Amino acid sequence: MSTDFSQNSAIESKALFNEVEFDNILKCVHCGLCLDSCPTYRELADEKDSPRGRLYLMRGLWEGELELKPQVIDPLNRCIDCRACESACPSGVPFGELLEKTRGIILENKSQSLKEKISRMFLLKGLFRSTGLMITASRLLKLYSASGLPKLITKTFIGRLFPELFVFQQHLLPDCSGESFKRKHADKILAPLQVQESQKTGTQIQQKNLRVGMFTGCIMDVSEKAIHDSTLTLLRSIGCEVVVPGNQVCCGALHVHSGDRKTAREFAVKNLSAFEPRNLDAIITNAAGCGAQLKEYHHLFAEGTADAQMNWGSFENKIIDVLEFLSGYSELLEKLPFRDEEDTVLYDAPCHLMHAQKVDENPRKLLSSLPGVTLVPLTESNWCCGSGGIYNLVQPDLSKAVLERKIESVRQTLRAFPEAKSIVTGNPGCLYQIRAGLRSNAIDLSILHPAVYLMERLKINGSPQIP
Ligand code: SF4
Ligand code: SF4
Repeated sequence: MSTDFSQNSAIESKALFNEVEFDNILKCVHCGLCLDSCPTYRELADEKDSPRGRLYLMRGLWEGELELKPQVIDPLNRCIDCRACESACPSGVPFGELLEKTRGIILENKSQSLKEKISRMFLLKGLFRSTGLMITASRLLKLYSASGLPKLITKTFIGRLFPELFVFQQHLLPDCSGESFKRKHADKILAPLQVQESQKTGTQIQQKNLRVGMFTGCIMDVSEKAIHDSTLTLLRSIGCEVVVPGNQVCCGALHVHSGDRKTAREFAVKNLSAFEPRNLDAIITNAAGCGAQLKEYHHLFAEGTADAQMNWGSFENKIIDVLEFLSGYSELLEKLPFRDEEDTVLYDAPCHLMHAQKVDENPRKLLSSLPGVTLVPLTESNWCCGSGGIYNLVQPDLSKAVLERKIESVRQTLRAFPEAKSIVTGNPGCLYQIRAGLRSNAIDLSILHPAVYLMERLKINGSPQIP
């Protein structure tokens, strides 16, 4: 295999990796089995934009053979961090961990443009750190959506006055609630709900006595309200007592993906102290990206440091995606009063659920077991949609090319199952991205989180069966 990376004798980069555990990069045997699973390699057909090529670059930096120059940094920045290469790799190379550590080193050691400095300061260090600011941003976006401007821009000739990217970004806007779910429920003990069995026996469902915490995230805390509401009701209906710690913060995934490990460490410590004292059986997430980050907090701390000694193992072991959690209580779910009319629903597997958390079969089994439901995975269900946290904002062209493949797979699946009216995906970032793709291509398909779909199946004549 030929590589055209610039080789430099300078060894500065080697010193930068001194404090980072990076030996796992040696697991890569350069077999190339990961190449065909990589969305950026598929689009760009360039070895530097493949997992193996990026591992060469990272190893070159680690060993001091390469310098932090654009021809090295750019392909690393073009990675979506989707981690499909991890699932494909027979040698167990922890690609995401290596990439995220490398991005941390890059951020700390390369100069940033003024624009980048301001956006990091305002967004990552400002907005995502403050629930109050998130609520304000959510209210402003809600007002903006209610003004009708996004529709005017996307549906009328007015859109032609704006750059194509700006028009597409109108489709990406989240459905903002203008309020914080976390503040609304902060620190209350939300008791289990008494639910009657579906068979009209009058029998109450025998519930589990579990105490779980809900992780609410940052953007999710103030948008797509139905996802948290549905998650909460489903947990309570199978007998969980639910706590929403009011002092929890953003998971830090967006920060880690963009190299800001310092802020992510601060968030990790805050979240540990928000959840650990609550004596919980599990900590539930409904955003695959947040779940993956919460399960890997220990990667943020160098071995031997005081923070690395904190109770990460216990915290991480409690993190579980709501779909995986519910699938463990199928005998209770079966008794809930679900509607049984026929419905075909398409399924998209979020990368950070499937490749990072290695959770794939359980969510599909859970949804397929619903009465009357035929679950159809998209033809390329396991391929990235190009969302990647804020990847769709920082690498918009490549993100859009990856999204177009996803939309083509939706079209293909719809040709075989034209009766499908909706598609489900368990990561809000994927939901925003695919929804934008559906809207901009005028595909009449609703997209929702599986927890919301489950709750919709519990409605009869528009009234929720469960309070
Ligand atoms: S990352 Fe894994 S699959 Fe890819 S080249 Fe290295 S060993 Fe092979
Ligand atoms: S994380 Fe995704 S985009 Fe990055 S190298 Fe691996 S497969 Fe490619």
